[in-house]
Amino acid sequence: MARLQQLTDQPLVKSSLWETEPVDCPPGTRPFINAVVGIHASPTETPESLLAKLQQIEDEFGRLRTGARNEPRTLDLDLIAFGDETRQTPELTLPHPRAHLRRFVLEPLAEIAPELVLPGQILSVRELLARLPPAHCKRIEPTPT
Ligand code: ADP
Ligand code: MG
Repeated sequence: MARLQQLTDQPLVKSSLWETEPVDCPPGTRPFINAVVGIHASPTETPESLLAKLQQIEDEFGRLRTGARNEPRTLDLDLIAFGDETRQTPELTLPHPRAHLRRFVLEPLAEIAPELVLPGQILSVRELLARLPPAHCKRIEPTPT
């Protein structure tokens, strides 16, 4: 989060950290820690330019890419949404295509933007969350301010 803060002059809007069970992962994958961060992007930022910065940070944190799906990783920074923007390219799908189905996204997102309606959705984040089946997703700590 400290590294993400370097992307903008305005304070990040940070969720708590949440411990979540692996979804669609190889056997033996340990729980993940998830969080959602709101970034006030500068007027010149685009979804593509921001994703490039996020991928650079993943690399800085030692991310290895073997190509296996949903493999354990040191750090995964996904773009959930970028305002009203939509994309449908191999490099970038916006909003993130599975965000509205995933408790590990919606729980932290609901802390910082419960009334947000993601592009293409009818229900708010809070309403989507209320309709999901239960899954292990435990708030483990507030983030340091
Ligand atoms: P995942 O996050 O789905 O587990 P990866 O982090 O390995 O998978 O990302 C695989 C590719 O997904 C990236 O190279 C990136 O170009 C692409 N991608 C498409 N849409 C998005 C998005 N909204 N946020 C982040 N990456 C995305
Ligand atoms: Mg990713």
